[in-house]
Amino acid sequence: MSNPAETPAPAPSDFIRDVVAGDVQAGKYDKIVTRFPPEPNGYLHIGHAKSICLNFGIAREFGGVCHLRMDDTNPTKEDVEYVDSITADVQWLIGGWADHCLGLKPKGATPATQTVNGKPDFHLGAVPVGTPGVEPFYASDYFEQIHAYAVQLIQLGKAFVCDLSAEEIDELRRNGKPSPFRGRSIEENLDLFARMKAGEFPDGARTLRAKIDVAAPNIWLRDPLLYRIRHVEHHHTGAAWRIYPMYDFAHCLSDYIEGVTHSICTLEFEVHRPLYDWILEALNLPRPLPHQFEFARLNLTYMVMSKRKLMQLVDDGLVTGWDDPRMPTISGIRRRGVPAVALRDFAYNIGITKYDGLTEIGALDHAIRSYLNEHALRRFAVLRPIKIVLTNLPDNHFEELDAFNLPNAPEDTRRVPFTKELFIDADDFMEIPPPKYFRLRPGGEVRLKYGYIIQCDEVVKNEAGEIVELRCTVDLTTKRGGPNGDRKVKGTIHWVSASHSVDAEVRLYDRLFTVPEPDAEGGDFKKFLNPHSYEVVTAKCEPSLASASPDERYQFERLAYFSLDPESAPEKLVFNRTITLKDTWAKEAQKK
Ligand code: ATP
Ligand code: MG
Repeated sequence: MSNPAETPAPAPSDFIRDVVAGDVQAGKYDKIVTRFPPEPNGYLHIGHAKSICLNFGIAREFGGVCHLRMDDTNPTKEDVEYVDSITADVQWLIGGWADHCLGLKPKGATPATQTVNGKPDFHLGAVPVGTPGVEPFYASDYFEQIHAYAVQLIQLGKAFVCDLSAEEIDELRRNGKPSPFRGRSIEENLDLFARMKAGEFPDGARTLRAKIDVAAPNIWLRDPLLYRIRHVEHHHTGAAWRIYPMYDFAHCLSDYIEGVTHSICTLEFEVHRPLYDWILEALNLPRPLPHQFEFARLNLTYMVMSKRKLMQLVDDGLVTGWDDPRMPTISGIRRRGVPAVALRDFAYNIGITKYDGLTEIGALDHAIRSYLNEHALRRFAVLRPIKIVLTNLPDNHFEELDAFNLPNAPEDTRRVPFTKELFIDADDFMEIPPPKYFRLRPGGEVRLKYGYIIQCDEVVKNEAGEIVELRCTVDLTTKRGGPNGDRKVKGTIHWVSASHSVDAEVRLYDRLFTVPEPDAEGGDFKKFLNPHSYEVVTAKCEPSLASASPDERYQFERLAYFSLDPESAPEKLVFNRTITLKDTWAKEAQKK
């Protein structure tokens, strides 16, 4: 567990990898360069994990590099908090892949300042993780260059300054009509654009627009906006700029500046592709141009997958934060205890298509369970304790029983103390059991896992009629290997020694939503929040859990998989339920 294996499966194949393989074979590029370009306006979610594993996966498979780039051209919604969380999440998710393919850059360097043999060096990638002074790429580092390209477009007569409002522009574009300012002279456009840059005009007063085709069938080509005025500070460039490039203008040029070869994005950008190509071609650029490819975004059942909606959950206090373990964010999933390699296996092998679909959450759960089943250390913990007193043992009885740390590894054991007083889970006892109940009942027998068979002789209750303890007798001849070690009883249950157990706060997380498609048809997804998605209990744990490690994963036997929460401290252990052993959702949903 402490040393998770790299994804062993062969690399997936799909239409994007086919194109890359063809380009490599044709010797089209010196090196494959992809990029993952999140906008730092929220935390990354599991949909981003798909894009990360695709972009970094391709870079890794083809000996290239994938730039982590903050797509930070909109100063109003962005924040440094998000830059930091995104960087941490990407590094965590790609784990050991990073050394081969994670493109970061020396702090402060830009393609303009970084030169090799006097020529600009556009391949800044593959700075090893952990190198002091490295940082992600920032689209905002290219504002100067992108601005120069805009001036060049004006000089080529391919862009103009427009004085219409956003609404007026929308209206004309919808109707395929030209702006009355389309015919401005190059000199006038250059002058106005310079004054926009100097901050002479208020927000919204003017825009820079490409001059393409006002009646193009593709609306994105109808003289789209390239720059707008925004008198706001930017989290990365401060107060340097009063005009900011639009996504479509900044993105293709950022790709070009960084030497990206394959620019992979989700399907909604397919209609932008002609504009992506138009801008690059209009500028007569000297180096090979990047190309855009689109794939279907990941949607998962029982989740919402958009930063805007996730932000509502955070802002409305419906979850404890972006990293609430119920959130589909990478930081939430990490906090829940899901190992990076399990999430990566899922996201890497999910399949890349051109068709939007809905993936069953069960597929993610399966990836998590398969990994944990193999790697999680087995431990005993009792979530809802009932006390057992073994009346035929002396008060000071103490022995240690050997228990397996992992299934199918009999040589790897730990010792668990066994004493006169134990705790078992309330779920493992029923006073009036239904037929076929094989756990403990009055007069019945059960095996204590790795230990002896006990029989329940008496149920002791308080005045309120609640069970206080179960008085039982133990048969010390029934330990495995003992004279009656082979004696069979139908039920085996987990237990802990009452005097040696340690208390832990255990947070039982469940699905955040009760329906498979909480945001179907644009309804209010918050109506479908699961009121039982979070429960806290104080568990009794076997003593070895007092030194549990945040790097380990645990299976509390017969219950679920757990891991330490970052809030855990030696004097107050806190465990999160990562996932149940089986998919109990259908059953639980019925109960509730
Ligand atoms: P959201 O819609 O959740 O706000 P976004 O697309 O605005 O997401 P960006 O920060 O712009 O988020 O995304 C960075 C990259 O991740 C983009 O290339 C985007 O296409 C990709 N991406 C975002 N959501 C998904 C998803 N659900 N599945 C696959 N890729 C995604
Ligand atoms: Mg976006």
